[in-house]
Amino acid sequence: MAAVDPGPDVVVVGAGPCGLAAAISLERAGFRTLVLDADCVVSSITQYPTYATFFSTAEKLSLGGLPFVISESKPARRDALTYYRAVVRHFGLTVRQYERVDAIEGGAPMFTVRTTRRSGETRRIACRAVVVATGYWGSPNRLDVPGERLSHVTHAYREGHVAFQQPAVVVGGGNSAAEAALDLFRAGADVTLVHFGPAFDKKIKPWILPDLTNRIADGAIHVRWNSRVTAIHGDRVDLVDADGETSEAAADHVFLLTGFAPNVELLRGAGVPIDTATGIPSHDPTTLETSVPGLFIAGVVTAGYDANKVFIENGRFHGDFIAARLRGEGPPAAPILSRELDT
Ligand SMILES: Cc1cc2nc3c(=O)[nH]c(=O)nc-3n(C[C@H](O)[C@H](O)[C@H](O)COP(=O)(O)OP(=O)(O)OC[C@H]3O[C@@H](n4cnc5c(N)ncnc54)[C@H](O)[C@@H]3O)c2cc1C
Repeated sequence: MAAVDPGPDVVVVGAGPCGLAAAISLERAGFRTLVLDADCVVSSITQYPTYATFFSTAEKLSLGGLPFVISESKPARRDALTYYRAVVRHFGLTVRQYERVDAIEGGAPMFTVRTTRRSGETRRIACRAVVVATGYWGSPNRLDVPGERLSHVTHAYREGHVAFQQPAVVVGGGNSAAEAALDLFRAGADVTLVHFGPAFDKKIKPWILPDLTNRIADGAIHVRWNSRVTAIHGDRVDLVDADGETSEAAADHVFLLTGFAPNVELLRGAGVPIDTATGIPSHDPTTLETSVPGLFIAGVVTAGYDANKVFIENGRFHGDFIAARLRGEGPPAAPILSRELDT
């Protein structure tokens, strides 16, 4: 007689670093775990700028105690992709890639997770608990201006080469915008940075800021502070400043690096209220269990709109809290659930 597949105890939605970390913690605690991802493993890291370097040191990005060994202190994007593939293999995680979770139905002690594979095949998976670690990638903060969906406009930055000797506009005042502006300048683009604030965000990496402010001071990078884009055209953007003055900036490439909002639609559909002001799903911060018993959150999705509070360094511990709750134990003492991004 054929063996009966017992199915997973826990489904983890999202194979980002925090979803993988949660699966490791749950497996260690004795729960059979299935990780599902609409894309590939750590797909958000595949979307980083091609030559990005992490601000975290390798050991702070490591999962489950598996050493992340590189010759430099801070890994490059490619190092991280290699490491997280090794994590999946080393811990023998069951990960089904390219299988989107469409809905989470029911409640403890029995959920049904409905999915669609890339082929169009649909499935239903029964489990006793679900962890949603869907991150924020893929849901950019849109400007909602005419022209935002034109082909030369993007919410992701890869590399400057494509804008060599072309006018480019970068919108944003955080690290992504700052690094993109410098990279574009070094690739020979004519860069204008547009930010609604009067200066860069306070959290700009300290080793980036002097380089950027010097390039702005000598006129190599143009900047429009206190300004917003009101429309995007094929070769320019329309701007308005805080005094209502309108102007234009030439733009054959437009990079809208305005951050992302958390992916909370699955949670909302499962009956978890989302705070309208903070974007935070209703949950107990000591267990990460949402207001739907048996349904948990992990990773950056716990931070709502304040995505800088949770990242790999601290989100990798979330699974320990969930495993403790499922085993009926108190929360683990040591790791912190959220903190300010420390650059
Ligand atoms: C350029 C850059 C540099 C960074 N550097 C650092 C750093 O140095 N240190 C640090 O700690 N953090 C860093 N971060 C932040 C870090 O990438 C995020 O905090 C981290 O990826 C969050 O992990 P996560 O597992 O919560 O979510 P994600 O990595 O976003 O993973 C979520 C996963 O869920 C999947 N998913 C979403 N919806 C569904 C669905 N319905 N069904 C199935 N799957 C779904 C997605 O495909 C995705 O793979 C950086 C970010 C950027 C952009």
